[in-house]
Amino acid sequence: SASVCAPLAVLGSDVEVPLVSGEKVVYAALDYAASAPALQRVWDDVAAYAPYYGSVHRGAGYLSQLSTDLFEQSRRTVEEFLDLREGDQVVFTRATTDSLNLLAGVLPAGTRVFAFETEHHASLLPWRREGLTVSYLRAPRSHAEAVAALDEALAANPEGPRLFCVTGASNVTGELWPVAELTEVAHRHGARVVLDAAQLAPHHRVSVRELGVDWIAFSGHKLYAPFGAGVLAGRADWLDAAEPYLAGGGASRTVAREVDGSVAVEWQRGPARHEAGSPNVIGAYAVASACRALTEAGFDALQAREQQLIDLLQAGLAQIPEVRVLSLFGTEAARVGVLSFVVQGWNSSHFSAALSAEYGIGVRDGLFCAHPLVRTLLGGEEAAPSECGAPEPSLPGERSLNAIRVSFGAGTPDEHLDRFLTAV
Ligand code: PMP
Repeated sequence: SASVCAPLAVLGSDVEVPLVSGEKVVYAALDYAASAPALQRVWDDVAAYAPYYGSVHRGAGYLSQLSTDLFEQSRRTVEEFLDLREGDQVVFTRATTDSLNLLAGVLPAGTRVFAFETEHHASLLPWRREGLTVSYLRAPRSHAEAVAALDEALAANPEGPRLFCVTGASNVTGELWPVAELTEVAHRHGARVVLDAAQLAPHHRVSVRELGVDWIAFSGHKLYAPFGAGVLAGRADWLDAAEPYLAGGGASRTVAREVDGSVAVEWQRGPARHEAGSPNVIGAYAVASACRALTEAGFDALQAREQQLIDLLQAGLAQIPEVRVLSLFGTEAARVGVLSFVVQGWNSSHFSAALSAEYGIGVRDGLFCAHPLVRTLLGGEEAAPSECGAPEPSLPGERSLNAIRVSFGAGTPDEHLDRFLTAV
């Protein structure tokens, strides 16, 4: 595992934090699903480039040209990372939420969007806008049920443009979804598919060509790059036919005053159409650097190492009878390094606070921006009407209204999970 861990060396791996006991310990970051720490290598790449950056596309100066080249090279790196098809586009966005909102804005009028209610709010909510209709599908309890439910929903709605939105790996349970099978069903019915790969792309090789999805979205900050940049990639036709996501410079090819005093705009085609304003070149460069680092480390090796950690965690938690691991598809389901649980007799917020204060472990508690899913997993009762992670009001002994999530990557040392298990 050491050789796998080296390319995944992250910033902050020696940060010490104070405990209530007065001792200090090295922080155990076990909240990668929210944001992974940046790779040292990404940071080094960005630092090496920083003195040279300039505004892209517009400047005549040397550094502007260099930056334009690096921005466009970053786009090509992402194309390769995602194994895109000929003609697919990479649009740089702020993150997954931004990517999916962008896509919602380019769907032809009258599109019906299908999504399981188990989605993260970023893939559940952007479709609720004028001109679109959304069909939410009930939480399936197996892959086969998911495939059958989509088949039935699309058969019942055979007309017009349709889009199915699905997550690759759940941000709550870490469980994998049968993306290729679902895509096959959607395409058989003439519907298109967007994959929310926010939690999948950091852990598994994702080939758009092999999965067949029409679009894919992911966030740099979950893929070991710092905050600020994400990606929407895929079919160009609807992207090129729609109004730009943001109106402004860069998205417009020509703007001219007409004789009647109005202004006529000809918009760009290609990624620039949806990247108005001065683009986040450093962010795109960092995403590309992270893509290269993961590719070079090799997803087979990364997955093998991550599976050791998942096994260690699951075996440890199975020893503790008060722990209930949350699962939609059953205990045998394949998952990435993301796992949520509740502890009998414990308020999840207090539990997570104790992990931090007494052991220097950073996890997350709450409903993880997936309220319908967490409610289903906890037994369906009304959870606290909070945003993504407000504390629950329950007392020890009452049923949990929220959960605790632990998440990590292939570079996470065994020691962090050992400490976590001891603490639990
Ligand atoms: N989808 C999933 C599955 C996620 O886990 C997240 C982040 N928690 C998002 C979308 C939204 O990503 P971002 O906050 O980077 O926009």
